[in-house]
Amino acid sequence: MTEQSLDPKDWERFRSEAHDLLDHCIELMQRADERPWQHVPEDLQAQYAIGQTEAKQADLMTRLRDEVLPYHAGNTHPKYWGWVQGTGMATDVTASMVAAVMNSNCGGRNHGANYMERAVIDWTCRKMGLPETAFGVFVTGTSQATVQAFAAARVRALGSDVRAGGQGEVRLTAYAAAGVHNATKKALELLGVGSANLRLVPLSEGKMNIDALQSMIAEDRAGGAQPFLLVGTAGSVDLGLYDNFHHLADVAAAESMWLHIDGAFGAWTRLAEEPYRSLSDGIERADSIALDFHKWMYVGYDSGLCLVRDGAELRAAFTARPVYLDGKERGVASGEPWFCDYGIDLSRGNRAIKVWMALETLGEDAFTQAITRNCRLASRMAEEVRKHPEMALAQDPVSNVCVFTADASLSLEDQSELNVRIAVELQESGEAVFSTTKVGEVEMLRAAIVNHRTTEAHICEAVQAVADLASK
Ligand SMILES: *Cc1c(COP(=O)(O)O)cnc(C)c1O
Repeated sequence: MTEQSLDPKDWERFRSEAHDLLDHCIELMQRADERPWQHVPEDLQAQYAIGQTEAKQADLMTRLRDEVLPYHAGNTHPKYWGWVQGTGMATDVTASMVAAVMNSNCGGRNHGANYMERAVIDWTCRKMGLPETAFGVFVTGTSQATVQAFAAARVRALGSDVRAGGQGEVRLTAYAAAGVHNATKKALELLGVGSANLRLVPLSEGKMNIDALQSMIAEDRAGGAQPFLLVGTAGSVDLGLYDNFHHLADVAAAESMWLHIDGAFGAWTRLAEEPYRSLSDGIERADSIALDFHKWMYVGYDSGLCLVRDGAELRAAFTARPVYLDGKERGVASGEPWFCDYGIDLSRGNRAIKVWMALETLGEDAFTQAITRNCRLASRMAEEVRKHPEMALAQDPVSNVCVFTADASLSLEDQSELNVRIAVELQESGEAVFSTTKVGEVEMLRAAIVNHRTTEAHICEAVQAVADLASK
């Protein structure tokens, strides 16, 4: 038996098939508006199983074309505004190809991808207004970034002994505005702080109420707890709201607490034009920021970043290199700093290249325009909603999120039912994708616009489609 190579038997055939596939993929991207989400047909679901017939395997390209590529999640479509899902960009295609060919392990050592990652981190630190000492690490997304940032906060609070000895009897407490993303709770659970030690501070006028925050901190201190972490939100999941980061930074400084900002999508108003840019004023005072590129910087999944004001504090929470990972002065194992010292992952791919390619191809200003446009489109949607007397907004959009009910004349329960039905019907018909969220007692239609393909016409069509379904 001849030994089988894992490289193609026939490189010319591979080349030609790959070219065909690339052409097809680019065409799909170019015609994203013709390709809404669709259900994976039941008979096809089983076909994903590994080890299909010989004939099937021989024709993998046809399978990709007919059975895989059509069943995307829909978020590439211009009328997709569900949850907070990025659209992706053409530069992802070429960036992913280059990343695959290089197959860089960005845990450390001396190679190009690490310089690229540092360059993107450096750019992001400057955009966020962080000082020279700041550093960070690319991660899967804000969920992971949050865990890592909180780990650094905990080392600051309890000293580096906590890494070996655990938290012991100390009761750490954390504070965030009601409506904070679940990622904060999960991170506190993972770190053993416990989500029961997260205090949810009420909002007033859409921002964390500072008086309430201060009395909660005082109460917890009096009860023997150690308040260690204040979490601000830049762009809340439900309504796209922003805390006042200057107020939070003042409290954090006075109380010797770590200020973390969940800026998963909302941190990017830093690039927007006014009045949106100033929503994130004061973000530069954070001890750490968690943010995503795969949402409002439009790059493909997955790509998030954990930034810490003093990179040494992130390193103090994670560095741990056994001898086999020792850095050297020269050769492959040189090239400090190594990213494995700044987070959970040892082996990690080149997540920065999609951002690097996008910025180098399109320029920063293109993002300023797209982000600003998304905010204006949320307001445009609100304007359309106001034209329908039966509809009602949850509130005027602050940033890129517009939430409304299709018929405010109904009972609260009937409104929820109607809104959910409309969302599902629009999704299934391929007309548009809203998600729903509960505002007070009503489950409402919600559009979080992080979509560079959306135009005003798309917004108007979608609101009209809601009105048509509501009157049915
Ligand atoms: C999406 C989101 C998260 C979680 O980020 P992932 O990238 O999905 O891990 C956290 N906070 C907010 C406000 C978000 O929108």
